Amino acid sequence: MRIVFLGTSAAVSSVKRDNTSLLIDDVLVDCPGNVFGKMVRAGYNPLKLRTIIITHRHVDHSYGLPSLLEMLRLSGKKEPIKVFINEDFFPEMGQLLNMYGLMREDFSLDLIPLQENHVLFEDSLRIETFAVKHSVPNFGLKFSTSSSCVVYTSDTEPCEEVAERAKGADLLVHEATCAEIVTGKKEGHSCVEDAARIAKQAGVKNLCLVHLGPELEEHLRELAQKAEEIFDGRVIVPEDFDRAIV
Ligand SMILES: [Zn+2]
Ligand SMILES: [Zn+2]
Repeated sequence: MRIVFLGTSAAVSSVKRDNTSLLIDDVLVDCPGNVFGKMVRAGYNPLKLRTIIITHRHVDHSYGLPSLLEMLRLSGKKEPIKVFINEDFFPEMGQLLNMYGLMREDFSLDLIPLQENHVLFEDSLRIETFAVKHSVPNFGLKFSTSSSCVVYTSDTEPCEEVAERAKGADLLVHEATCAEIVTGKKEGHSCVEDAARIAKQAGVKNLCLVHLGPELEEHLRELAQKAEEIFDGRVIVPEDFDRAIV
């Protein structure tokens, strides 16, 4: 699997970081602003995109979807694109896309409500959802091929389900909106220390911290060290446009 970190910030972006979204092979996970432009900047042709997954209704994960779809349409995307949207706000997002005139005969959109324990396939890539603990219904995602496994938490409090699903994974991409030694805990989210404890519990090989709150920016080295004290594996704090091959 090839992962591009298109964005790594929490709901408030910074000079260096935009809202969190990931490109995993030809699958886009979450869609804040100008994801189309970011894919181009990352050297990826957006017309190759086959599947989009919107994990939950929060604005920093979903507001760029109409714009991305319009850019794909105007760029001549012909193959159908599958868009999985959390069932919690599936009708509302459908209305929004309709309001923007995106439901049209010459543009093939396959909108699918995303549910708990949903299994989807993209060629040799298997993707399954699991419920996490956030302020609104939300799903983590487990990506597996015959040789590797990546788990992405989306937004969540520290959650047993993540530790369970990520058991032995090659990479856990865990949200870290807060840090006990900088901001204290934030409801509905995880601290850097929580992410490290879950990574240790799951026995993953590598931990990537994303969805970073702006207050953490100046403390990243210290926070990575803190995470390494808790978790024995490798801790990575990717910047926007960094990539990982798993
Ligand atoms: Zn978020
Ligand atoms: Zn959220």
